[in-house]
Amino acid sequence: MNTEKLKVFNLKSDSKNLDRACEILKSGGLVAMPTETVYGLAASAYDEKAVSNIFAAKGRPQDNPLIVHISNIEMLNDLVSEMPKKAIECAERFWPGPFTMVLKRSEKIPASVSAGLDTVAIRMPSNQVAAELIEKCGLPLAAPSANLSGSPSPTTAEHVIADLDGKIDAIVVSEPCEVGVESTVVTLATNPPRLLRPGGITLEQLKEVLPDIVIDKAVLAEPEKNKPVASPGMKYKHYAPKSKVIMLDGNLQDFCKYVNSKAENGVFALVFDGEEEGLMVPTVSFGKRDDAATQAAVLFDALRLLDKKGCSICYARVPTLDGMGLAVYNRLIRAAAFEVITL
Ligand code: AMP
Ligand code: MG
Repeated sequence: MNTEKLKVFNLKSDSKNLDRACEILKSGGLVAMPTETVYGLAASAYDEKAVSNIFAAKGRPQDNPLIVHISNIEMLNDLVSEMPKKAIECAERFWPGPFTMVLKRSEKIPASVSAGLDTVAIRMPSNQVAAELIEKCGLPLAAPSANLSGSPSPTTAEHVIADLDGKIDAIVVSEPCEVGVESTVVTLATNPPRLLRPGGITLEQLKEVLPDIVIDKAVLAEPEKNKPVASPGMKYKHYAPKSKVIMLDGNLQDFCKYVNSKAENGVFALVFDGEEEGLMVPTVSFGKRDDAATQAAVLFDALRLLDKKGCSICYARVPTLDGMGLAVYNRLIRAAAFEVITL
């Protein structure tokens, strides 16, 4: 299939390309679109066939539900069967933005969107191109990340092209994603509310609206095999480059000593900016040590870069767990298949 590349950098001058994306979506096609978190692979959430094509194009396991994207609060009425007061407060506080709420699903949403669960995950993106596209279509768009299942999520149009060119109808080519990791996912279908996936909205921010929120154990630890999980997506090996990633928990000096003792062809270090000096192996950096937002913005690009540079084993620095660091840690530990060595 020829994948149309539709450049939309300016909403006014590129509006014809956005119209074309909208036309494809309305006729049941698949379109990758930018959002502030990562690029998403969108289809009409009401079109069962289009939704099943998303799973096929990504090679996504059927039991991993999709997030439905909306552009205005009225769209919610058709998607959920219950709207708790807390959900309204969260919507007011965190939307539009990198925040996803899981609520009871209405009958209008095909079961396949939610992988058969009785809940549905919903988000209102702040990215102007995404918001305009959804609004133009007048349809909620089901959209997981626009990568091949298992590989690092795409934060640039080039990443989407590398994974999905020839497999989907079109890609809206726009700016790199600002946040760089996927949205924060919170279920409000349980009491107390539960953080299922950390992201651009931090736990500290969530607690201001949801003081009793609990962290699902899959956020930091490896899910137990063959046990049901609250967020099916968290049980899969994820975000992984082809090279093996191992996290080394310790100070910079011990990190350098350990990595240098392993130095050979194909060994790389994934470090914070400015930490290259004491290392005898090639490095890729992923943001400032004390600024997790900068780490989130480049992490997935850094993971893809390791493969491009021919890395076979990569030793990675460990981010701290506060603020957006929780999201960075959550992604990196999955890329490392939970392999952490304490120095
Ligand atoms: P992605 O769209 O690729 O970022 O993945 C969506 C994430 O949202 C996955 O981790 C899913 O497990 C999670 N998710 C989507 N819908 C639900 C739901 N109804 N209940 C719990 N988690 C969900
Ligand atoms: Mg994904």
